[in-house]
Amino acid sequence: MILHEDFKSCLRDIRSGAISPHITVSQFAEKNRKIKPPGHKVYEYFNFDNTPYLRWPCDLFSSFDSTRSLTVVKGARLGFTEGFILNVGTYNIVVNPCPQLFVSADQKLIDRFAKLKLKPVIHASGFDKYIRATSNNKKNKNKSSGDTAEMLEYGNGDYWVFSGANNPNNFRQIGFQVVFLDERATYRIIDAEGDVGRLAEGRQGDYGLYAKTASVSTPTITGGSFYEDFLAGSQHEWRVHCPLCGGMQYLEFAKFSDKDEKGNRELLQGLSFEHESYELRSEPMYKCKHCLQLFPNSELYNINLTGEWQTDKKYVTQEKSARITGLYSKFNTWDEIAKKFLQAKREGTPAATQSFKNLILGEFFEFKQKIIQIRTDLGEEKSGYHRSQVPPEVGIITCVADVQVDRIEVEIKGWGINKQSYSIEYLKFDGDTNESEVWNEYENFIFNKCVYAGLRPELFLIDSGDGNKTADIEDFCRRCNIRAQKESDNPEVMVIMPLKGQSPKQINNKPWGVRTNEGLQVFRINTYHYKKQIIDFLNRKKKDDEEIPFGFCNFPNDYPDEYYNQLKSEKYIESIDKNGYPVTKWEKLRDRNEALDLFVYNLALIDYLMSEMYIPVFEAVTNEPHNYNSIINHFINQRAVA
Ligand SMILES: [Zn+2]
Repeated sequence: MILHEDFKSCLRDIRSGAISPHITVSQFAEKNRKIKPPGHKVYEYFNFDNTPYLRWPCDLFSSFDSTRSLTVVKGARLGFTEGFILNVGTYNIVVNPCPQLFVSADQKLIDRFAKLKLKPVIHASGFDKYIRATSNNKKNKNKSSGDTAEMLEYGNGDYWVFSGANNPNNFRQIGFQVVFLDERATYRIIDAEGDVGRLAEGRQGDYGLYAKTASVSTPTITGGSFYEDFLAGSQHEWRVHCPLCGGMQYLEFAKFSDKDEKGNRELLQGLSFEHESYELRSEPMYKCKHCLQLFPNSELYNINLTGEWQTDKKYVTQEKSARITGLYSKFNTWDEIAKKFLQAKREGTPAATQSFKNLILGEFFEFKQKIIQIRTDLGEEKSGYHRSQVPPEVGIITCVADVQVDRIEVEIKGWGINKQSYSIEYLKFDGDTNESEVWNEYENFIFNKCVYAGLRPELFLIDSGDGNKTADIEDFCRRCNIRAQKESDNPEVMVIMPLKGQSPKQINNKPWGVRTNEGLQVFRINTYHYKKQIIDFLNRKKKDDEEIPFGFCNFPNDYPDEYYNQLKSEKYIESIDKNGYPVTKWEKLRDRNEALDLFVYNLALIDYLMSEMYIPVFEAVTNEPHNYNSIINHFINQRAVA
C-alpha cells in the first residue's frame, strides 16, 4: 500500500501520542500548537503560563467533556482569541474534526481573525496537512450582499465558516457542531432576523448533545441575551490567593465602605492609588479583602498560576458561564488601568464610565431608566388673576395656534422676567377648517381682536405640520402677511409664520430655525427640546421667602381642569434601545395634548423674538447691550407709565 506523505505524517502524530482522541484541548495545545509571542521572531509551543485561566475554558471544549455552552464575560486583553478560540478551533481540525462556525461583530474582525491569526497558526504548527488542499483559500462569494465569507475545509467533509454577525446569510443553511460567538454582546438585533447569536446557535440542531457554543465578549449593558446567558450559567469567577495572607478572592477594581458622617469612605478591596487633578501620583497596589494589606502588580504572574475557577452556585449544569476582569491581564498593567479610570473620571460622562467598566474591567453597565412626569398638583396654586387679564409683571405677549379638523385652538401667553410665563387666554374657533368661515374669523382675531391690556403680539405662529393642511395654512399665512404689508404700507412686515416640528439635527444645534419656502418664512421647532424644558418649568414651585424660580409658570384662577390634564399628557423617558444605546422618547398618556403643543410653540416663539428681533433692534436703537430681562423690564415700565 502506498500512503500519501501527508497521511503518513498524520499517522505518525497519532502513533507518537501527540494527537490522540483522548487528549484535552489544553494538552493538545501544549504538545502541538505553535505561537509567536509578541516581540519574538520564532514560533514556540503554546503554554498557559501567562494565561493560566484559559486552561479550564479550553478543556470544557475537549470532545469528551459534556459542557454544552460557555459564556465568558471578560475585560480587555486577556488573550481569549489566541489562547481559547485558536486552541479549540485547531483541536477541532486535527483531533476531533467537526463543522465549526466563528461569528464576530463585523467582517473586518473576521478577516483579521482568519488571515492574520488562524492561518499563520495552522501553517506554523504544521496543520496544513489536515486542511483539504483543493478547497484551501476557497472563497465563498455571497452574490446577493456582495460580502465574502471565508471558510476552511478539513477532515471528512468538515468545514470552519467565518461570518460577520451582520451577515447571517453566510450560515443560514449550514449545520455546525461548535459555534464561537466572539464579541457576542455587541451584535446588533437585525430587524427581520432577530437575535443573530440565537440564530447561529439554532444551526446546531443536528448535533444534539455534542453541540457546543462559546460566547466570549466584553460586556455592554445589563439586559439582552448575552447578559441572560451569563446569569443562567454557572457564574464561575477566576479567584486568586493573596500573596500576603493566602486568602482567596476575585479581584475587584474598587469596593468601598458606606460613607461615614463626615462623608468619608474606606477602600475595602481593590486598586489603591493616589491621584491629583486626574493624574496618577502613586503606583497602584491591590488591597486584599481579607488582610487589607497591599501587594503590587508584579505579584500577578504568581497569583494567577495558582488561581482557580470557582462558583458559589451549588449545582452546576452543562451551561457554564464565567467572568474575569481586565485586572488579571498580563498585557494591561494596573498602572494603565488606573490611568484609564482617571481619564474616564475627567470626561465625567455616563458614556466614559460605561466604556471603562465594559472594556477595561469587563463589567456590565447598569443603565437606569429615567422617567420625568409633570407634578400632579399643577394648577392648584392660585395666581390671583383671571382669564384675559394681564398681570402687571407681564411685558410681552405671544399667540400661537393649532389646527384641527373642526376647530382652531389658540393660546396667548404673557412673559415676565426670568422667563416666567403667564397664561392669558385659551380660545377655540369652532368650524370646519376645510371651509373659509373659521379662517376668516381667525384672521379677524389676528388683525382686530388680539389685544390684551393694550398689548399685541409682535408675531403669530400657526402649526402647519399636518400634511393634509400644510398648503392651505401656508396660503392663509401669505394672505395675512400681504394684508399686513398693505395696511402698514411696509413690504417687509410679517404678522404670521407657519411652523413645523423638526428633528434637532436638521436645525443646526439651535432649538428653532427658519426656512423660506416660496417666499414664505416657515418656523421650525425642536419639540423634544422644548417639551423637556416645559416639563422642567412646570415642575418648579414657588416657595415662601425664596425668589420665584426661573421659568415658573403662572395660570389664571379659572382655567378648566381639562387644560391641566392636557399639560400632564406626556411623560419623558430616558432609556436604551434594543442595541443598548441611550434614547429619549415621549410617551402620550392621553389622546389630546393641544395645551402642551401650544406651550411649546409659545416658548419657542419668545426665544425667536428675543434673539432675532427685540435684542438686535434694542441694541441698534440704544447702542447698549441688551438681554431678555432688560427688554421685558422696558415693556413692563412702559405699561406702568401708560
Ligand atoms: Zn491578604
